Amino acid sequence: MVKIMIDPGHEGVENNLDPGAVANGLKEAALTLRIAKYMYDMLNEYEGVQVRLTRTGNQRLTLSQRAKMANEWGADFFISIHINAGGGTGFESYVYNGNVSAATIAYQNVIHAEIMKSIGSVKDRGKKRANYAVLRETKMPAILTENLFIDNANDAAKLKSEQFLLQVAYGHVEGIAKAFDLKKKKEAVKMSEQAKTEYDKEVDAAFEFLKQNGVVTQDRRNEPVTRAQMFLMLHRFAKNVLKK
Ligand SMILES: [Zn+2]
Repeated sequence: MVKIMIDPGHEGVENNLDPGAVANGLKEAALTLRIAKYMYDMLNEYEGVQVRLTRTGNQRLTLSQRAKMANEWGADFFISIHINAGGGTGFESYVYNGNVSAATIAYQNVIHAEIMKSIGSVKDRGKKRANYAVLRETKMPAILTENLFIDNANDAAKLKSEQFLLQVAYGHVEGIAKAFDLKKKKEAVKMSEQAKTEYDKEVDAAFEFLKQNGVVTQDRRNEPVTRAQMFLMLHRFAKNVLKK
């Protein structure tokens, strides 16, 4: 059984609680909770996994308490969700800047990549390291994600979209599933198809069409294409599709 502790950053939006960054009509603590709850639901579609949240609502909770909850539960993985602020745009992830296990680095690599894949045209600010309390005080592999900038108008517009928050959660969960080799429960396979974005669905359909017509052979949707490969694809498209 893999135990995953999800930590929605900050405390909440009620008086006297730490709401995290606030801008453009958005509050970090509310966004991190929405993403975390989506992740909780999505992760429960997998077998052999137990999921907990450090908070499920507005709640006073120190950084050390969050780490302690994960340590006492014996979590296998800790992931803290945040929204960035302070001028910038895009996504970045963190692990502790002291000693970390090879597994921690491996998990950061795969989860970072899956999130970037899921959130589309968002700037990749890179995989970073920092001395954050939740990363330092947790005894298991731990990462922290900063999901766009609340004080950037373009990023904030994305964060206002429920679909985008779903994509953020989906990327985190795809990454965790890969990192821990989790398998979907059978009845959940169909549901997750619905979580795919319209963009993904169109790419799926386009790939199937091009494959059936002998234009492409492999679904390498996230890899760059050279001009030579583009020439071949256009040539095959003209021969196989246009001349039909
Ligand atoms: Zn934060």
